[in-house]
Amino acid sequence: MDDITHNLQIIQSRIDTACRKSNRNTSDVKLLLATKTVTPERILKAFGAGYTLIGENKVQEVKEKYEALKNIPHSNHFIGHLQTNKIKDVLKYGVTCIETIDRLELAQKLHQRLLSENKTIDVLIQVNTSDEESKFGAKPEHAVELVKQVAELETLKIKGLMTIGLFSAETEKVRQCFRLLKHIQQQIIALKIPQIEMKELSMGMSGDLETAIEEGSTIVRVGTAVFGKRIYPDSYYWNENQQ
Ligand SMILES: *Cc1c(COP(=O)(O)O)cnc(C)c1O
Repeated sequence: MDDITHNLQIIQSRIDTACRKSNRNTSDVKLLLATKTVTPERILKAFGAGYTLIGENKVQEVKEKYEALKNIPHSNHFIGHLQTNKIKDVLKYGVTCIETIDRLELAQKLHQRLLSENKTIDVLIQVNTSDEESKFGAKPEHAVELVKQVAELETLKIKGLMTIGLFSAETEKVRQCFRLLKHIQQQIIALKIPQIEMKELSMGMSGDLETAIEEGSTIVRVGTAVFGKRIYPDSYYWNENQQ
């Protein structure tokens, strides 16, 4: 068995255990493979093991891997910071969901482009639950308003919320981020906004997926625990200046 298949088994059993602990169905939590810097050959191994939901951080990487992956049915979410000048390409290379809608300007430009292409796309609203300046995402206090505004743009199909938890070894602090996202989801559900769904909570990564599942995650985004350490630090993917 190759290392990726082996790592996937370990991750799946972590997910299963966390689900059991919180009385949830394993089938309610999707494993999204964060594939930044991972080559198509290695991604294809994960596909071969039955995991076909991936997430990229950079439009350039979506583009580069498109040809090599396109013959295997899979879903590709965009999970990085999206600049408006990359909208055209993100739509061109098969991305099925943009998880990082964090500002109205981005949503409006995306909507304009989708209108002109006569297309729609699934989106999640990204919320900065850790209050760190370095992270993208709408401020928690602005999230509900942003959802209301994006809901008006009929090409964008809102499916839920996404967050990156605090990087911390203190589980309870990380948990607060996930609780906050769940709380915002509940607030939004109570508003009964027409045409939106609030089912998905994309939260939890290699280090904190158990906590995220306990707090209601439906999509865990896992990179290093499946593919090993990346060549670049996270900041390379999360800092706008380095895009
Ligand atoms: C890289 C990345 C992940 C996965 O993080 P790991 O710690 O490697 O599991 C999840 N979400 C986003 C947005 C990422 O960029």
